[in-house]
Amino acid sequence: MNKNDIVLVLIIFSPYFYARIKERMSQDILERITYLRDELRQHNYNYYVLDNATISDYDFDNKLKELQSLEEQNPQYFDATSPTQRVGGAITKNFNTVAHKNRMYSLDNSYSIEDLYDWEKRIQKNLGTQNTEYTCELKYDGASINLSYENGKLVSAVTRGDGFQGDDVTANIKTIKSIPLQLKGELLDSFEIRGEIILPLNGFNQMNEERISAGEEPYRNPRNTASGSLKLQDSAEVAKRPLDCLLYHIVGEKIPYKTHYQTLEKARNIGFKVPKAVKVCKDIKAVFEFINHWDIERHNLPYETDGIVIKVNNLHQQDELGFTAKAPRWAIAYKFKAEQESTLLHEITYQVGRTGAITPVANLEPVQLAGTIVKRASLHNADQIEKLDIRVNDTVFVEKGGEIIPKVVGVDFEKRPLDSQPTQYAANCPDCETALVRKEGDAKHYCPNEYGCPTQITGRIQHFISRKAMNIDGLGSETVELLFKEGLIFNYADLYDLRAEQIVPLERMAEKSAENIVAGVELSKQIPFEKVLFALGIRFVGETVAKKLAKHYKSIDNIMASSFEDLTNVDEIGDRIAQSIVDFSNDLSSIQLVDRLKSYGVQLEMSAESQENQTDKLQGNIFVVSGVFHQMSRNELKKAIEDNGGKVSSSISKKTSYIVAGDNMGPSKRTKAEDLEIAIISEQEFIEMIR
Ligand code: AMP
Ligand code: ZN
Repeated sequence: MNKNDIVLVLIIFSPYFYARIKERMSQDILERITYLRDELRQHNYNYYVLDNATISDYDFDNKLKELQSLEEQNPQYFDATSPTQRVGGAITKNFNTVAHKNRMYSLDNSYSIEDLYDWEKRIQKNLGTQNTEYTCELKYDGASINLSYENGKLVSAVTRGDGFQGDDVTANIKTIKSIPLQLKGELLDSFEIRGEIILPLNGFNQMNEERISAGEEPYRNPRNTASGSLKLQDSAEVAKRPLDCLLYHIVGEKIPYKTHYQTLEKARNIGFKVPKAVKVCKDIKAVFEFINHWDIERHNLPYETDGIVIKVNNLHQQDELGFTAKAPRWAIAYKFKAEQESTLLHEITYQVGRTGAITPVANLEPVQLAGTIVKRASLHNADQIEKLDIRVNDTVFVEKGGEIIPKVVGVDFEKRPLDSQPTQYAANCPDCETALVRKEGDAKHYCPNEYGCPTQITGRIQHFISRKAMNIDGLGSETVELLFKEGLIFNYADLYDLRAEQIVPLERMAEKSAENIVAGVELSKQIPFEKVLFALGIRFVGETVAKKLAKHYKSIDNIMASSFEDLTNVDEIGDRIAQSIVDFSNDLSSIQLVDRLKSYGVQLEMSAESQENQTDKLQGNIFVVSGVFHQMSRNELKKAIEDNGGKVSSSISKKTSYIVAGDNMGPSKRTKAEDLEIAIISEQEFIEMIR
């Protein structure tokens, strides 16, 4: 070996050289992995989004297998957005509940062109301009989903839930091939996109054929099957279902587009499935043409739709219009005429609610209606039964409107049996048999046996523990019934006396669940006063009223000491609510309950902390908020107004005290404000007002 050879050998065996070779090889592997991922992604997109296959199943499977094995051998290159992640396999035992960053609202409904003209009038008045245009989309009938993307990758998928929080179903959603795990283009670093998980009719029918031939009960309708699929524990099972996802709304800060239509086009361009049946309409007449077209054409769609959604196209105008407590003002659903069926009414039964209110229920011969089998329908109240003259053994018309519970809308009098007798409304409570009462002006009958009627007792406790009230984790409705049945609780104050060793011996209870209940009850002592007030279940004192009262009176003692006149002087508290509070305050059992809650340390007055942020500085002033703000969001601004005793209104009138104007305040609003000589202040000036 000469000197040169020695140098060569040294080089070859040097760690440096090895490292280089390894690097080179792994670069090749990474390149191949990346190549395969990109290619498979594109084929998925072509097939599932564009509906245009560009590879045979056989070749696709082979490439997927190659990718799978490369990823297995090189776990350092794992990527949660790889096409291999779509086959499922992850098991979710309990879905995590997560709060939505942006609330998921519902939609208001309309049923006629007049409704739409009314809606247009409202928004134009609100915006102070006639200059509006609309986008029309189909209303996809499935389960809503909120997808979050960060830096081009899907990071989470959450169901709508109650709009404030939903279930994290990411593992299941990833198996839906038309949802991009990795975007094809850029939009924002971080955004959410909303859509509907649907089960196309073809796939639904095929699933049912398989079930029937396996001797199983078929699924009732595509919508329920789609939403049920999202909550399956085994994601591999979800992967087998032909689910699809249609997108309709991007949510994010500083969206770089002017119109809703543009955001939909952008969403489509970066890989989302946005149906082509979207149209920009200059006026309501054009909207109605779209509706009429789809009312017929919808029967040829591959999936179900129950209406059209009309949205104000201009995003800035959407922002101006904002939301009601339940739905955006800038959008409205138009529902196609509800399906109606006739069927036999076998029996009228009665239900008691937690407040003692009685609801009559029609028990029907089962009938197929809009995809579901209906056996029971609401009859509302005695007046309704009398007005429609509904009788047992009548053939009645049942309709499914926007609500989940179907209703009886009329009687087929020609089919009425000759021996038919008018309906005698129930005289006694179906649960405790106490004679029912009906106060003047009330549509409903009530069971007055407030503290003896089992359904009312458990109903009140169930309300007390519910999420918007005391939010007691670990305690469900059924457990409340069990604890009541076993004689451990008769009212909500009893919850605070519960000990784990009393609960453990009960059916289906274990040490852990008993401890959870006691811990949950303990934790509820921190729930703020306004929620406690709501939890007390005073008739007519809902969430909003409870907030008002808490803010005005600051403590339960003040509320209970106030007179009827006192109460009616509070903004938005009417006679009915005031009377109900006075009744509660004079009721011995209520007084005792409240005293007991106090003794356990439940928050029955507003904490010093929350009082601190609340002032009367803006008392008597009405504000209109318009434009885009920098230091706080529009919602924070509104909350600050209310916290400081002011009122927020959505339209400018003579009563308006101030307009807080951000960037891009609508020009017509400005003109109107100037005409009425209303002070326009900036965000900064507002902040100084409350400082
Ligand atoms: P509802 O549940 O009847 O209050 O209707 C509101 C729901 O309609 C929303 O939560 C969405 O999930 C759903 N939806 C279906 N299609 C659309 C669409 N094109 N735009 C907005 N919402 C839609
Ligand atoms: Zn009763």
